[in-house]
Amino acid sequence: MKILVLNTGSSSIKFQLFAMPEQTVLGAGQLEKIGEEASIVSYRRPNYDEQNDRWKYEKNISNHSEGLAEIVSLLLDTEKGVVTSADEIKAVGHRVVHGGDKFTQPTVIEDDILGQLKSISYLAPLHNPAGIKGIEVAQEYFDHAIQVAVFDTAFHQTMPDYAYRYAIPGSFYEEHGLRAYGFHGTSHQYVMRAAARFLELPQNEFNAITIHLGNGCSMTAIREGKCVDTSMGLTPLGGLMMGTRCGDIDPSLLLFLGDHLQMSFDEIDQLLNKQSGLKGLTGTNDLRSVLSKYEKGDTAAKLAVAIYVYRIKKYIGAYAAVLGRLDAIVFTAGVGENSSFIRAQVSQELQILGVELDPRKNDLPAKGIREVQSANSPVRVMVVPTNEELEIANQSYELVNSR
Ligand code: ADP
Repeated sequence: MKILVLNTGSSSIKFQLFAMPEQTVLGAGQLEKIGEEASIVSYRRPNYDEQNDRWKYEKNISNHSEGLAEIVSLLLDTEKGVVTSADEIKAVGHRVVHGGDKFTQPTVIEDDILGQLKSISYLAPLHNPAGIKGIEVAQEYFDHAIQVAVFDTAFHQTMPDYAYRYAIPGSFYEEHGLRAYGFHGTSHQYVMRAAARFLELPQNEFNAITIHLGNGCSMTAIREGKCVDTSMGLTPLGGLMMGTRCGDIDPSLLLFLGDHLQMSFDEIDQLLNKQSGLKGLTGTNDLRSVLSKYEKGDTAAKLAVAIYVYRIKKYIGAYAAVLGRLDAIVFTAGVGENSSFIRAQVSQELQILGVELDPRKNDLPAKGIREVQSANSPVRVMVVPTNEELEIANQSYELVNSR
């Protein structure tokens, strides 16, 4: 069965076409800068010839509908294509950022689901409208396919109320849904499943802390395969320090910015979401650049790395206390998979929790899923490459097959 996975952002669409259940990627790519004069289209066919079957070009793509038309024409192209008819695609799996507390599972788009999704868009005004647009456009181009929404928040819906509720009057939760939801759920779920499988432990007995360190960063505490706490909150701004986001701060700081410095809501939003984190402290949001400044002794970079690592350690401590028993700590995403330095910094002084890194294993320039703890470490320390698109394809496949 061929399943197309779409990750639609406000000015971008990422896509991957999978053959399932083989999990083979037939075609993949992305469109960036949709709506600008020169949008950028990249496309590759990894299953044909990974070296040569790559294309990148500029084209004027003024909206998401034209974007999806471009994707369809690439997939059907006689030279570059991988399918002969759009009807070969039996399902389209969509990444939707926020599912509120209504959507706890992957969901087939039928009846009034789109209407319900729109009604919770206020919870993620920057993200959900794009996901919904992606669904609407895909319904037009793939009218025979089953459309499935997979939510970033869904995996976290097993959190107990004392973990997701804020200590503010209950009416704000009951009337407006103000609570912690958590994000990156598809990634946390994927690496948790992959780690349990790798260790040959039953998922429903697996206790882990998963650490997703990309541009956005978040952590989850997982008990018996289910999320019991996560670091992001109502929005993806809370928790760890990130590329451009501040993570946890005292909420009164917002009052100070507004009241004392007369900043508008928009300015505060920009500051905390786009101008903070690594970028705010060092001028760049890219951890590689921060680390190269760090190596040259740059004071701001040293402080930024220290805060970045310290936050992760604090959450590990908190989550170990929550879980009681810990099988594994799992690092993933751009930083977690590639930076042995950050993994080593985070793992220092964690022997008290039974976590001990093997520096040699940690430094091996390996790819793929692996263990990097020392022989004496009761807790496994793992590096698991994430693959959110594959998880969306898996979940869509399972859902379509079960109908
Ligand atoms: P996104 O959240 O956009 O998907 P990624 O998961 O690709 O992001 O992670 C991007 C981050 O990973 C960037 O900060 C980048 O600098 C960092 N990164 C990638 N490779 C390395 C590396 N070898 N060492 C340190 N950081 C890395």
